Amino acid sequence: MTSVNSNFLKLQSNYLFAEIARKVASFKEANPEKRVISLGIGDVTRPLAPAVVAALHKAADDMGDAATFHGYGPEQGYAFLREIIAEHDYKARGVDLSPDEVFVSDGAKSDVGNFQELFAADSIVAVTDPVYPVYVDSNAMAGRSGEFDGKQWNRLVYLPCLKENDFVPDFPKTRPDIIYLCYPNNPTGTVLSRQALQGWVDYARREGCVILYDSAYEAYITDISVPHSIYELEGAQEVAVEFRSFSKTAGFTGLRCAYTVVPKALQVSDGKGGKVALNGLWNRRQCTKYNGCPYIVQRAAAATYSPEGRAQVMDVIHGYQRNAESLRKAVTGMGLSVYGGVNAPYIWVSVPDGMTSWGFFDHVLNNTALVCTPGAGFGASGEGYVRLTAFGSPADTEEAIKRLASLS
Ligand code: PLP
Repeated sequence: MTSVNSNFLKLQSNYLFAEIARKVASFKEANPEKRVISLGIGDVTRPLAPAVVAALHKAADDMGDAATFHGYGPEQGYAFLREIIAEHDYKARGVDLSPDEVFVSDGAKSDVGNFQELFAADSIVAVTDPVYPVYVDSNAMAGRSGEFDGKQWNRLVYLPCLKENDFVPDFPKTRPDIIYLCYPNNPTGTVLSRQALQGWVDYARREGCVILYDSAYEAYITDISVPHSIYELEGAQEVAVEFRSFSKTAGFTGLRCAYTVVPKALQVSDGKGGKVALNGLWNRRQCTKYNGCPYIVQRAAAATYSPEGRAQVMDVIHGYQRNAESLRKAVTGMGLSVYGGVNAPYIWVSVPDGMTSWGFFDHVLNNTALVCTPGAGFGASGEGYVRLTAFGSPADTEEAIKRLASLS
């Protein structure tokens, strides 16, 4: 009989969101008159910018005319989009990257999940704790995470991010081959300073590691001292891959467009004493397994860079940033310690002494009909915290703030 990839059987069920849904359903059954508001959603709620919608209409018309119809596109993305990305997202920040170092895709989730295929099966992987679960599970599927001992995977190197270290991970005692960093961070909403990120780049250069840098929330950075791209740091093109997405930047969670930057200077061991560039390997991987992001979606993504598109997209982001600021103030007013939420749409709240993150979740749900996300669901170091998101509508956020005030 055919055997399954047994690594899949080691994966943990998505306990976090299933358990939240179960608790919310039972609360609603017991309290049918109460309107539950979620501060746990990780999806955007505002519609696409008018400039993006206009570009979608125009591109749809292109597809209906033999003269402008587009069939299979380049697996790496259309030049019109790769060129704008290299120009606006990098050159404008002093980073010199060529369009053929940019690979357009249908999402950062697939890219961060797939990229590990390029590395040796026995590579040692480091992840921050708490963590965006895709990094852990995609390596578990490939057999690199080891066994789950009920709390952690025994082959992963965990980098705890806690208030005690200002949410800046310390260098690990064991040298990893691959390091996943995500800044602005999901779930903590914290960022790395230029100096801290330079420290990680230098570490990777010294130790011969590759950093997989997820900057899906880059557009939320307001502090001018915080780097938007890892390539703003000296030497990063030799050690880092960067993942970006239009999802939270421009409301593309349902449209699907992202990109991954693989600099040509980034080389790893070929296992035979030589070196091999990851750019060529990622290109090979994409050409074999991926047929490109739709033309109309790439046209829509390109529209976010026009002056009016940019202004409209930033307007939406500013709205989410205002939600984050109001939520931060409200929770601080409750006497709780609050982290993140300044350069990110996520707010990380330290729960009252003596409570667990699930205990606080229950307390908030039962007393205010608000839903947050228990930090323990993002890893052992998330215990003692809950995550709030700023993606709700302004009206719901305002109502949530009134209810939080009644809790304090
Ligand atoms: N990376 C991080 C850290 C995220 O939080 C998310 C979405 O929640 C993604 C990547 C996925 O982005 P995309 O919608 O482009 O797949």
